[in-house]
Amino acid sequence: MTFTYNAEKNFLESKTFLITGASDGIGKTCARTYADYGATVILLGRDQKKLEQVYDEIEQSHPGKVIIHPIDFKTASLEDFKLLADSLNEQFECLDGLIHNAALLGARTPIEFYPAQEWADVMQVNVNAVFQLTQALLPALTKSADARMLFISSSVGRIGRSFWGAYAVSKFALEGLMQTLADEVENTTAIRVNSLNPGGTRTNMRRDAFPAENPETLPTAESLMPVYLYLMSKEAQSIHGQALNVRDFKAL
Ligand code: NAP
Repeated sequence: MTFTYNAEKNFLESKTFLITGASDGIGKTCARTYADYGATVILLGRDQKKLEQVYDEIEQSHPGKVIIHPIDFKTASLEDFKLLADSLNEQFECLDGLIHNAALLGARTPIEFYPAQEWADVMQVNVNAVFQLTQALLPALTKSADARMLFISSSVGRIGRSFWGAYAVSKFALEGLMQTLADEVENTTAIRVNSLNPGGTRTNMRRDAFPAENPETLPTAESLMPVYLYLMSKEAQSIHGQALNVRDFKAL
């Protein structure tokens, strides 16, 4: 049965969320959805033009509730993440949500032939940048009375599958980062940390991974949003340190 969540209008009104990879796919839909429920959203992505399009769309319906911050995780330095954190500290009292959504698919080829540079790039974008961003933003998240962090994972980050190479290994690393951080912050902060596997979804990444598949057979990013909203709600406050799957959510 499809999961439905009857979120109260504007239940995210006083919240500030940062979503990475918000220029496209699930991240873009997630940013729009959180803004629709009242949140102020900070959009990260590498393509300024695409981010500006999402900005325009959200700004039109929710003026003053969106900011963009172009940053390429492949080349970003520690200093770039520090500058981002400083800029957010000047604009906001705290950060209430961090959705680690951006990811690079990389090559789909046997480990034996996996190109080393591509391996390094995928690890940089999908793991190292996620660690650096987390580290930079933890002080702002710690100031929130109820913060949520989601590491967007994948089924191949939980059970290895041939030819998924660096992407699969990077998602396993995120699961480890999630568990380690969840244990560290559980008793000392109000940050709840989980990973979430969206499952096969109609996006560019899925099309690149499965070019022969008919996209019409796949769930849309919009259809995942009840789960993404629920995980930001008061009702989900006790969920912590878990490897979640969108498909496992049943109707409340
Ligand atoms: P997508 O449509 O390809 O979007 C990925 C986002 O990440 C885009 O905004 C992209 O920016 C951004 N990104 C990529 N490289 C970046 C970099 N170097 N620096 C900053 N941002 C970068 O993918 P999606 O399908 O929505 O995936 C969203 C998340 O769900 C990912 O973590 C993915 O692993 C996970 N997931 C997806 C599926 C699925 O079937 N779609 C299944 C399981 C897990 P650009 O707009 O510039 O490309």
